[in-house]
Amino acid sequence: MISEKMILLAKNNSVIRAMFEEGNRLAAEYGRENVFDFSLGNPSIPSPSAVNEAIIDIVQNENPLSLHGYMTNAGYPAVREAIAKSLNKKHGTAFSEKNIIMSAGAAGGLNVALKTLLNPGDEVIVISPYFVEYGNYVSNFDGELVVVPASRVDFQPNMETMRRAITDKTKAVIVNTPNNPTGVVYSEDTIKKLALLLKEKSKEHGSPIYIVSDEPYRELVYDDTEVPFITKFYKNTIVCYSWSKSLSLPGQRIGYVLVPSEAEDYELIFETASIATRILGFVNAPALIQKVVAKCLEQETDIEAYNANRVLLYDELSALGFEIVDPKGAFYLWVKTPGDDKDFVKAAVKYNILIVPGSAFTCGGYVRIAYCVSKQTIEKSLPAFKKLANELGIKRKVP
Ligand code: PLP
Repeated sequence: MISEKMILLAKNNSVIRAMFEEGNRLAAEYGRENVFDFSLGNPSIPSPSAVNEAIIDIVQNENPLSLHGYMTNAGYPAVREAIAKSLNKKHGTAFSEKNIIMSAGAAGGLNVALKTLLNPGDEVIVISPYFVEYGNYVSNFDGELVVVPASRVDFQPNMETMRRAITDKTKAVIVNTPNNPTGVVYSEDTIKKLALLLKEKSKEHGSPIYIVSDEPYRELVYDDTEVPFITKFYKNTIVCYSWSKSLSLPGQRIGYVLVPSEAEDYELIFETASIATRILGFVNAPALIQKVVAKCLEQETDIEAYNANRVLLYDELSALGFEIVDPKGAFYLWVKTPGDDKDFVKAAVKYNILIVPGSAFTCGGYVRIAYCVSKQTIEKSLPAFKKLANELGIKRKVP
């Protein structure tokens, strides 16, 4: 018998697989262009041309032996130094290569961070709704997931519920802002309150509770929204960054884990996280793309297309009467459903609209619409959303 844990996981994978199969069925019946697939968080803006230019330049000019060879597990020191300098310029911090470990995207980084932190039975708090892979990542290291609901008004974490959830086994809180699936950006006030609470609780326990900050959407923010840089508010923070969304490179698997020097046990964490990278089997983050991102650090993420989609879809759906949580970041709309979210998703499929039920993020009563699609898809989908609103009895509220 193979791993029972994996058999269970494969069974639970069915929501995403069903969605994928549904998309293929609809595409075969109506043509791919008539299916409005808002189910995936896959970037729809191509990487800036600087990425391909950097690849060509590196491949043509670097010594192939050293370019394709093994390296220190944390990644190329020069790449890490360049990232640290870029962060310092943007955020007024004082990082160096000694604070950065290159990772295989945020997913790789989160696994490195959790492998470094967790003893079996340690609790990790996640704020619901959350990226469901967190459950798998925590279970990889025999941790226990503790789910704390965010406020149902603005989807910021609620400190009173958080306080009640913390026990002497709490090792970390995973924070994801800008947030998947809600599109919410946590305010500075929220981060300050969370920092205060965790400082108090860490003191009470006599050992730190870490924030693991999952930041693949850091650069995807709109309306001049500021994303607080959490290490400035809480020293025991491990940042897991990724270029999957900001440079549209999800298939290249590149990101970093950042451990501030001020973190308690910094040296031990840094050393063991480097070893975790090795023994999890990544060994080091992919070599070529490390060098590529180092050359693209000053590239601004071109989010105009996402922003145009966001405004169009938000305005049109709101006008139809859909209730949407204020979307300030990432590329998701979080929409309240009048009844069960799964029924809403089923009704949407009738009009060739594919979206994900909130229950897939452990938060029923909502659906996630990923607007990282072409503008034409959104424009073509609007009559379908109108029919969906009619079917569900959703009406525009008269102010
Ligand atoms: N965390 C969140 C919240 C995500 O939405 C994703 C991907 O969609 C990831 C982590 C994983 O990102 P990466 O491709 O960098 O591993």
